[in-house]
Amino acid sequence: PELINQIAAGEVIERPASVVKELVENSVDAGATRIEIEIEDGGARLIRVRDNGSGIAVDELPLAVTSHATSKIGSLDDLEHVLTLGFRGEALPSIASVARFALSSRPATQDAGWRLEIEGGRNQTQQPAQHPVGTTIEVRDLFYNVPARRKFLRAERTEFSHIDELVKSMALARTDVEFRLSHNGKPVRLLRPTTDESSALQRIGEVCGDIFIGQSLHLDHAAAGLRLSGWVGLPTASRSQADQQFFYVNGRLVRDRVLAHAVRQAYADVLYHGRHAAFVLYLELDPTMVDVNVHPAKSEVRFRESRLVHDFLYRTLHAALADTRA
Ligand code: ADP
Ligand code: MG
Repeated sequence: PELINQIAAGEVIERPASVVKELVENSVDAGATRIEIEIEDGGARLIRVRDNGSGIAVDELPLAVTSHATSKIGSLDDLEHVLTLGFRGEALPSIASVARFALSSRPATQDAGWRLEIEGGRNQTQQPAQHPVGTTIEVRDLFYNVPARRKFLRAERTEFSHIDELVKSMALARTDVEFRLSHNGKPVRLLRPTTDESSALQRIGEVCGDIFIGQSLHLDHAAAGLRLSGWVGLPTASRSQADQQFFYVNGRLVRDRVLAHAVRQAYADVLYHGRHAAFVLYLELDPTMVDVNVHPAKSEVRFRESRLVHDFLYRTLHAALADTRA
């Protein structure tokens, strides 16, 4: 199983930021309202993610690090209804096979916490440990036992900037959750949970800078089982904003040609010039209408009725943008 997990790790765990992604997704899935991420040496020495989510019961701890064991879906049929970010049950065993791994956790139903340790997929131990309700995962010396991969880690600054990008995208996905990020003991981000539209917009500003260059348009429209909400910037002739585009489908950041095309087309038809626009958009739809199990990294989706999704997006954006010109 160690080798199999290391092979799976090759698909899911490319660099420290991939570890952070999987751990933060698990915290979100566990219902955490506060997630703290501590990084040392760009993640090569330490990645620690602490949350105040549901915690893991002591008898389920070993399962959490067993491959293809997930508490999130019970059957193939459930795969059609995935609303959690995780569902493959691969991340923790993969990570534990390529690092020195420790998981401490306590659910509200237990008086005491437990700590499980694994070293490079081996020597699994478990003992009682103090822990508040929630979970802490520590990943030390990533790829220490896979020298070929350790060698490919880039400079500390580069790896940390990938982590920061990831935290940014999660912080935009869930503006209702508090995020803290530190590097080598220094606080880098402290994002307080937001409760309404204007504080959410403020978080976007904190995370991305002034991507909307002063002018942004809020939208929230639902029809035919689809809901599109979020903010779009009105493009200006002065600045290109190509990399400030965030599109979430049921809380998951995705890159998708259908979505990209609908957005580009709506901008082009209303504003008559092809400059890239900034946006943070959230599409919500019934989980049966979208397949998220396309790729292990889960950043691709496939819509069952992509025409319907495309047209809904195009029309909603077109109407909103056209309003600003009226
Ligand atoms: P997946 O997220 O696909 O289910 P993972 O390997 O990421 O698989 O996690 C395995 C299991 O461990 C999860 O299904 C969940 O039950 C548990 N788990 C992992 N992280 C947390 C956490 N932060 N809080 C609560 N449970 C967790
Ligand atoms: Mg997961």
